Amino acid sequence: MDRDKSFTLWTDLVNTRYLHNGHEVDDLQTMDRAQEWLQRHFPDMLPVLATDDAVFSEHWLGRLRELRDICLDVASTVHDPVSLGTVLDRWNQWMQNLHLTAYIIKDHDQLHEIITGVGRSEQILWRISHSLAETLRHYPLERIRQCEHDECIRYFVDTSRGGHRRWCDMATCGNRQKVARYRAKR
Ligand SMILES: [Zn+2]
Repeated sequence: MDRDKSFTLWTDLVNTRYLHNGHEVDDLQTMDRAQEWLQRHFPDMLPVLATDDAVFSEHWLGRLRELRDICLDVASTVHDPVSLGTVLDRWNQWMQNLHLTAYIIKDHDQLHEIITGVGRSEQILWRISHSLAETLRHYPLERIRQCEHDECIRYFVDTSRGGHRRWCDMATCGNRQKVARYRAKR
């Protein structure tokens, strides 16, 4: 996985909740809708999710939503070390239920991290959780920010050199904000 992508996986999960015409939309509300998101981010792994098994997929989706809550909690409490401790407890507890084992192998001078666990469906959960851990390892907490646009609740990791990024997406929110300011000035 390339480096920048590993920092956006978890924000992409958090951003499955967003505002559309002022109303909150949740792309993970049902498994049908979650499938579209999963198709975009884990096309290779989608077949392993036994989506015709309603009990399994409902349970799995619940764990994905719980991870989203945890990611959101981390993102919104990064400036508050006291509640961050509580969030980390919750995160660790969630991770314990993954029952995954990770180890490193050497293959033709290349090192690979091998993850084994109960099923590949759990690896999806782990990869998202891991992307949050990687972000926290590489960037100071204040680089995790919520978009400054009034009608946007999305989060992003500011990986820019200067660290002055303000919007989740320059092409959408950044532009909308600039146009709004320009209109307000006239
Ligand atoms: Zn935005």
